Amino acid sequence: SPGAGPDASQEKRLVVLAGPTAVGKGTVSAAVRDDHPEVFLSVSATTRKPREGEVNGVHYLFVSDEEFDTMVAEGQLLEWATVHNMARYGTPRGPVEKALSDGRPAMLEIDLQGARLVRETMPEAIFVFLAPPTWEELVRRLVGRGTETEAERERRLKTARVELAAEKEFDVTIVNHEVHQAAEELVTLMTLGIPSKKSD
Ligand code: 5GP
Repeated sequence: SPGAGPDASQEKRLVVLAGPTAVGKGTVSAAVRDDHPEVFLSVSATTRKPREGEVNGVHYLFVSDEEFDTMVAEGQLLEWATVHNMARYGTPRGPVEKALSDGRPAMLEIDLQGARLVRETMPEAIFVFLAPPTWEELVRRLVGRGTETEAERERRLKTARVELAAEKEFDVTIVNHEVHQAAEELVTLMTLGIPSKKSD
């Protein structure tokens, strides 16, 4: 009808993807990026140092503590959190809002604390918990990555145990059996939503 907004059924949705450390959120995000270039993937700001192969502006915006302070002070972040008591990570607000207003499906891949904060400000988003096939598989992935020190691995395992218990807070669980399949399930949620979840 004239003057009405876009048909709600055509509206693209924000998916917030969280889950335990090393469950494969990064790999699933990369599959969404490769398979679905139409999807807007938020690039987080972080104060941690780049790992080998990570590209500034693609995987993260690598910023100094001072730059991060400024982003927080100026309200540029939709949410932010200190993860593993080490570095700060945050979601730049502007690009997400622009993608959604342009009608693009969008996704944030953030930690559990961040997901809880986004639920306060954007309750209409779809909160997805990415689960490992088994706890043993999660441990294997965590240790197998080999990019962290022993102390850091232990800290991450402990965090993962707490994070696994958070599944019940989420709208949907996707089990990461196979990355491309998990990516398809995510894109379906962004495009079609959850029939039972109100969009406004
Ligand atoms: P990593 O350092 O291994 O890339 O990421 C560590 C953790 O930070 C992961 O659990 C990841 O989901 C989380 N993370 C990445 N970006 C953000 C963000 O913008 N906000 C929040 N709250 N967590 C994030």
